[in-house]
Amino acid sequence: MALSQKRQEKSKLNHLIETELTHQYLVADEVMRLFQPSRGSVSTEVKMNVQTDNLVDDFLSSINTSSDITFNALVENFTDSEVPINPANFDSYLEYLANNVVNHSIHTSSPRFIGHMTSALPCFVRSLAKLMTAMNQNVVKIETAKAFSPYERQALAMMHRLVYDFSDEFYTQHVQNNQSTLGILVSGGTAANIIALWCARNKSLCAKNSFAGVEKTGLAAALDYYGYQGAVVIGSELMHYSFDKAADLLGIGTHGLRKIPTNGNNQVDLSALRQAVADCQAKNLHIIAIVGVAGTTDSGNIDSLLDIADIAQAANVHFHVDAAWGGPLIFSEQHRQKLVGIERADSVTIDGHKPGFLTSSKKSIYMT
Ligand SMILES: *Cc1c(COP(=O)(O)O)cnc(C)c1O
Repeated sequence: MALSQKRQEKSKLNHLIETELTHQYLVADEVMRLFQPSRGSVSTEVKMNVQTDNLVDDFLSSINTSSDITFNALVENFTDSEVPINPANFDSYLEYLANNVVNHSIHTSSPRFIGHMTSALPCFVRSLAKLMTAMNQNVVKIETAKAFSPYERQALAMMHRLVYDFSDEFYTQHVQNNQSTLGILVSGGTAANIIALWCARNKSLCAKNSFAGVEKTGLAAALDYYGYQGAVVIGSELMHYSFDKAADLLGIGTHGLRKIPTNGNNQVDLSALRQAVADCQAKNLHIIAIVGVAGTTDSGNIDSLLDIADIAQAANVHFHVDAAWGGPLIFSEQHRQKLVGIERADSVTIDGHKPGFLTSSKKSIYMT
């Protein structure tokens, strides 16, 4: 190859590399700009906010609960399995969302949408959600949530006090004590119920003398050490299906979840409950917990928590109250009486996203 030709090839290559690099720098610039906090009134973010606010207004002001499209036809819009190669700009992505997702979403805040536990949210929740997203705190550690960690502890102490109403001294001692746990915020009522029963299992089959505890040995060895023939959880037949999942995960299987018939008021039948407890004791089955339902998911009926507390106490068994649905009654002077007996629970599940009027993301379990 002639020298001049070689030079030409080389310079062509350089040109290509330069173009490629320039392109990469442009993309990098573009990406970096997405992370810059908005300054001034016409920043990208302000424009994006206006666009999404308009979409929100349109969505919330519609009184129809749903669009006319059939679900089968809608599903046809979502059959891709490959991540798009080309990035979309914000405008076209928002348009896509509006046409395909938002416009066919259920209007849970419509006055025509009734009889469901998911409802309209008060407007301040949306503004606070924006703030939460902007701050992006991770409460896993103080390093990522310096103020939020103690703030969360305080909120848990307030919820604990609503349920248990212990002394001032108790809360002074425990509210910010990192050796104490007044409650845990988890991703949902299902997780809260599972964790509550997990704690009940591990506490009742704990390490003792030469035995290392169920969390180390597993269920079979624990039951063997304590001399039981098996283990169960007992509650109403109207218990939420999260208890089936819990029973499976705890190693007792769904057959280990004893479902007791209810009376005409959808409350657990107390004499059948007493009988089931006696049967399990007679068969030498370990009762991990007795569950009281404070608001069944379908009808909202509340079990007689005081009576169940007595039954659990007499049997020396962990008493868990699933107040995922009815828990927010605790905030009401007028209605909190309906939860009487909840203060005797060893653990309580409360959802924030049902009558708690929060978004479907954070709920809690509270334990003594
Ligand atoms: C909704 C509900 C649950 C489960 O809560 P998720 O937050 O949906 O996981 C558990 N128990 C009862 C009584 C409920 O109504």
